[in-house]
Amino acid sequence: MLGNQGWNIINRPHSLVARVLKARYFPTTSFLKHLWATILAFYGVLKEAPDLLVSTPPPPNCTLSVIADLMIGYRWNESLIAQLFNDRDRSCILNIPLSLSSHPDAWCWKFASKSHYSVKNAYRFLVAGFRHREGSEIWSRFWKTKVPPKVLNFCWRALVNVVPCLSLLQSRRVPVDSMCPLCHEALETILHILVQCPFARSCWLSSPLSWPAFSAVSLREWFSLAFLTASAENASLILMISWALWHNRNNVVWKAQGRTASGVFFMALNFLQQWRGACSDSTSCTNGWIKVNIDASLNSQRSSLGFGCVVRDANGRFIAAKAGCFCSQMEVKCAEAVLIVSINNVSLDDLSPFGLLIQDCKLLLSSYEDARCSFIHRSANDVAHVLATSAHSESGQGVWVHIPPPHIVSLIALS
Ligand SMILES: [Zn+2]
Repeated sequence: MLGNQGWNIINRPHSLVARVLKARYFPTTSFLKHLWATILAFYGVLKEAPDLLVSTPPPPNCTLSVIADLMIGYRWNESLIAQLFNDRDRSCILNIPLSLSSHPDAWCWKFASKSHYSVKNAYRFLVAGFRHREGSEIWSRFWKTKVPPKVLNFCWRALVNVVPCLSLLQSRRVPVDSMCPLCHEALETILHILVQCPFARSCWLSSPLSWPAFSAVSLREWFSLAFLTASAENASLILMISWALWHNRNNVVWKAQGRTASGVFFMALNFLQQWRGACSDSTSCTNGWIKVNIDASLNSQRSSLGFGCVVRDANGRFIAAKAGCFCSQMEVKCAEAVLIVSINNVSLDDLSPFGLLIQDCKLLLSSYEDARCSFIHRSANDVAHVLATSAHSESGQGVWVHIPPPHIVSLIALS
């Protein structure tokens, strides 16, 4: 909350609250000097994020007043920066991309999408380094699984035990009979409905997954055993079948209309295929157009960003592809915007934050008679995604015209 006040004092120094606080707390100095004293007091926290600090001491008799003093036109003044900063800071500065257009200096908060400070973002930043999340690998894979959002939502609710199965309702003093409405043999828990119930067993056995991890004693354990070791396709099926079992159970309870066990499996499979088809349709384009898919991939260990783009005609025939990699601390979404700029053959030694890049993209795209950009789901962007991820190795980088590289041939045939 104090951070919010500070942000407002910096950006609106003539507001009433800024003037009152200045009169009360730092009447003889600037807010930033006062802030610096506070930063020193919290140096222990900032040591956890050393990349936020400029480590070079201020040079004596420094006459620089704005960031533009470190630039020549739209490029960094590398010789001046080399004189003023140590190697680490020089490298950080030169890795900051610059915009194609000029903008005045402004305060930006690195951890918010629009660079505006908020208490929520500051809190997330401060706790992120200290929080150890149990099972983070599972959750990371879980949220990346390619299934409809409502299926993910149901499975997440099941895993955090908030799905209103009968035994949970009874534990919360709702007067219900907690026996399973499908088999009438055991208490209806979420583990029973999705795994242990004979009906669930039949459903799983009619799928290619057999009956995964049936001996687990909790849904979390079952999920860890069955989901983490499954292939991407099987992981999607596990979530789809889980959702379909609960959907069928609701139909039995509320409509007295249940499917057969194999019918539940095929319903899950059909729904998944329909959803994938709907995602793929969004990438189609009409005759006379060409389609350019782009993607970027971050390798945080190497501090490198891979990018890939593929150009196809309206019938999906391959025209050209490009993949490459550069070292940067840039966010993935910025790299994707840079890629839009770079595929227009404009030389870029310098880049800037996301909003400025979008302006540059719009400027460049306006030079075409007719061009439009649209977001497509990752599941419909496989070719560009594979190009971007493989660009982290030298063998995955290059430009291909008319003949696609081997690692995307099968994907192009499928899409
Ligand atoms: Zn049952």
